[in-house]
Amino acid sequence: SSNAAASYVTRHLGNSVLCHGEARRARSRGVRAYTSTSSEKKERVVILGSGWAGYALARSVSPSKKDRVLISPRSYFVFTPLLASASVGTIEFRAAIEPVRRLGLTDYHQAWASEAGPIPSGKEFEVGYDKLVIAVGCHSQTFGVEGVKEHACFLRDVGDSRLIRLKVLKAFEGAALPSTSEEDKKKLLHFAVVGGGPTGIEFAAELFDLVHEDLSKMYPALMKYVNITIYDIAPKVLPMFDKNLANYAIEMFHRQGIKVKTEHHLQRIRRVDDHLMLKIKEEPEEVGAGVVVWSTGLKQNPLVEKLVGQEIEGFGKILKDPKTGGIIVDEHMRVQTEFGSNGNKEKLTLPDVFAIGDCSVVEGEGFPNTAQVASQQAVYLGRQLNKGIDENKPFRFRNWGTMAYLGSWRAIHQSASDELKGKAAWILWRTAYLTKSMSIRNKLLIPVYWAITWIFGRDISRF
Ligand code: FAD
Repeated sequence: SSNAAASYVTRHLGNSVLCHGEARRARSRGVRAYTSTSSEKKERVVILGSGWAGYALARSVSPSKKDRVLISPRSYFVFTPLLASASVGTIEFRAAIEPVRRLGLTDYHQAWASEAGPIPSGKEFEVGYDKLVIAVGCHSQTFGVEGVKEHACFLRDVGDSRLIRLKVLKAFEGAALPSTSEEDKKKLLHFAVVGGGPTGIEFAAELFDLVHEDLSKMYPALMKYVNITIYDIAPKVLPMFDKNLANYAIEMFHRQGIKVKTEHHLQRIRRVDDHLMLKIKEEPEEVGAGVVVWSTGLKQNPLVEKLVGQEIEGFGKILKDPKTGGIIVDEHMRVQTEFGSNGNKEKLTLPDVFAIGDCSVVEGEGFPNTAQVASQQAVYLGRQLNKGIDENKPFRFRNWGTMAYLGSWRAIHQSASDELKGKAAWILWRTAYLTKSMSIRNKLLIPVYWAITWIFGRDISRF
């Protein structure tokens, strides 16, 4: 009920956060007081989310100064830039994740903050905090396109990568059956990517590598049926890159046979037998596909949707960004509210509550929703929490540049000072991913997998 929701929010921001555990078979729902195993003297920093923002913050907050409590349904951090590689077997899934328990936290709870998670059936409990950091990220936006939720694959977690890998290999095995007609082979081996941003482009490039470096050897007779198409409603793909680099990418895709269809609107996906049929506004007939990867659009996390716009006693409403719906924070990542009625509005700062990463918007700044921004905000906030908030040290974003892999060992890179394309950009791309990966274990594992793929090819077993 709306009353329950309101009391939840009041409790949530009144120095405790309500969570739901993952235990699906739990029959009773009870509230228990939080009991800390640690020293009472240290401040307790409670972090919601184990993504680029939450995980990096948990690493940055000093355990000698604070008790760190992490709450997230995901017991691991995902290195999202490697998900496309993992989905085609260039690296193994484990090399793209870091278990949160390795951080030596005071406590980790595999749970959702609020009742907004998809499995709100677990036990309910409350966690007290001195400082609360909301870092719950965003969800994928399907814009209400029919059939996307049911039939398309997303690319946001390792589970998504695993599913894509399975579906690609299933499409090839299905097409290889003697009973499959020519027409159905074409449909099954059409791979549609919706979204021409770096993620969609990189996935198409990785898929091209898988098909041409590995699957072509296993299924030579099927190669003539394979098609990869990128659809985007915008007039151009890779909008964050200079025209020169975006054109280089399109020309390269053209040479590789990857079709880029801009100003194309996907209106519906439906399943027919073992393949999918896509209705594209600009095409006269439905298009068949074996796999559709949806990599466009973000929407706010249900927890954020619930929090913004609700009344908090003495502080008014949490301010939300009108464009993205994200939580507005000041340049110290502190959550902002608006108090008072029409003629007499006052902006306030919510004490001890912060928001970082994709779910937040720094007032007056248009930072993109990227891992770069999220991790820099986390490191900044970690330092601020360790030392005490310094009003003279606002958050400053340092843009390290943008990169995208284009397949066949080529990439593009753009920063304020330079532009690179081709093999040199690819070397930079791989070096950057390696240096940014979090643990020494993965810094070793990733090049090992790259070498294995180079020598022996990708793992294409279906299990
Ligand atoms: P997320 O990383 O999404 O993490 C959110 C966390 O909150 C998750 O652990 C989730 O389980 C948890 N959570 C959700 N709801 C709750 C709740 N109610 N209670 C508690 N926890 C909750 N950016 C770049 O800069 N460079 C790249 O090359 C790049 N490549 C990308 C490739 C892919 C495939 C994708 C999907 C994204 C890529 N990005 C890249 C963007 C980048 O990953 C995001 O901007 C970044 O993940 C945002 O970090 P975050 O911590 O805010 O959110």
